[in-house]
Parts: sequence; C-alpha cells; structure tokens
Amino acid sequence: MAQGTLYIISAPSGAGKSSLIQAMLKTQPLYDTQVSISHTTRGMRPGEQHGEHYYFVSKQEFETMIEQDAFLEHAEVFGNYYGTSREAIAQVLATGVDVFLDIDWQGAQQIRQKMPSARSIFVLPPSKEELDRRLRGRGQDSEEVIARRMAQAVAEMSHYAEYDYLIVNDDFDLALSDLKTIIRAERLRMGRQKARHDALISKLLAD
Ligand code: 5GP
Repeated sequence: MAQGTLYIISAPSGAGKSSLIQAMLKTQPLYDTQVSISHTTRGMRPGEQHGEHYYFVSKQEFETMIEQDAFLEHAEVFGNYYGTSREAIAQVLATGVDVFLDIDWQGAQQIRQKMPSARSIFVLPPSKEELDRRLRGRGQDSEEVIARRMAQAVAEMSHYAEYDYLIVNDDFDLALSDLKTIIRAERLRMGRQKARHDALISKLLAD
C-alpha cells in the first residue's frame, strides 16, 4: 500500500478556498481523500459543529496540547490559536488516503519542514476588486473592519510563491478542475503507481 499524499491548501479569506475544498470532496470517495479537522480556540460561528468544522477548545486546553507535543503544526491566526493534531494524520496517510490541511502560511512552513513530501497549493482571488467585494460580505461591517481584513489577506497572499501549485479562482469550475488535476497527477507519480500496480508490473515483467 502506497502512502497517501499530504496536501496543504492556503489562501486569503475571500479567495473561495473552503468552497473549492467542499466541491472537491464531493467528487472524491472518502477512502481516497479526507480533510483534517483542526483544533481552534476561536468561538464557534453559527452553523458550525464541534468535530465537523473544528474541534473547539479553550486556550488552556490548547496550551496543554502544545506542551504534550500533540500538534504537527500550530499558529496564531487573527488572535486565535489553530493547530493540526498529529493523531489521525499519520494513521490515515498510512492507509493510502490523501489528507488535506486547510491551514495558513505559518502552518504550511512548519509542515514543509517536517514532511518534505507534502504538496502545497495556494489559491488566489481573480482581482483586488473581487477580493474587496467578497471581504465586504453582507455589507454589515465598518470600513475599518474591511480594511483590516484586506491587510490580512495581502499578508497571507505575500507567501504565495512558497507553494508548489498556484490556482487563480476566477471561474469556479475551472479552479475546481485545476485542483482535481493536481490530485490526479500526484496519484500518477511513479512511487504511488508502482505500489498500486505491483501485481500487474510483476506479471508484465515475468519471463
Ligand atoms: P477561520 O477562523 O476563518 O475558519 O480560519 C482562519 C484561518 O486559519 C484560515 O486561513 C485557515 O486556513 C487557518 N487555519 C485553520 N485551521 C488551521 C490549522 O490547524 N493550522 C493553521 N496554521 N492554520 C489554520
């Protein structure tokens, strides 16, 4: 059994990363692809579920997990802690399943150091105007809040070149197809294919 691939996917808020991941998951069976569920100290938003979107924990619980070296990576993002627990990841990868980490650039840097075989993907919005429109959301926030979101988005985007792949989310279907193509190409790499088609290759090469 070949190891699954660990993917890191990052983007500024407003680039459409979550919708892309959700749409991609619908096209992949669970035994092929899963998204890791992070721990966070931020409050739950309406519609979010503990254990589905995140494991929502207190700052104290999070700090205890840091002390226990329970995280593969962790970072402070917009004043809250976020982290990927080691548990699950290695076990799931060992069963040949690809695992997606929806994390920021700080977490991406830590994972690259620890797991050089991870593949990383950055998603950009199609223009500054569109990003501004998306960050305004339902039009209920002050200009100050929007300006802060834009500054955070620019800070995240400044790390785009550290990633292996770049997707510009202009046409959603095309961006989704790009994401699926990356996954497909990675699955066709020699190491994966050799393990998968071991029996066939032995027969083909037998005298
Ligand atoms: P949100 O609070 O909007 O769900 O996420 C805010 C940011 O935190 C997003 O950029 C998201 O990718 C990032 N994030 C979510 N989980 C993790 C994690 O486990 N580690 C790191 N480093 N970033 C995360």
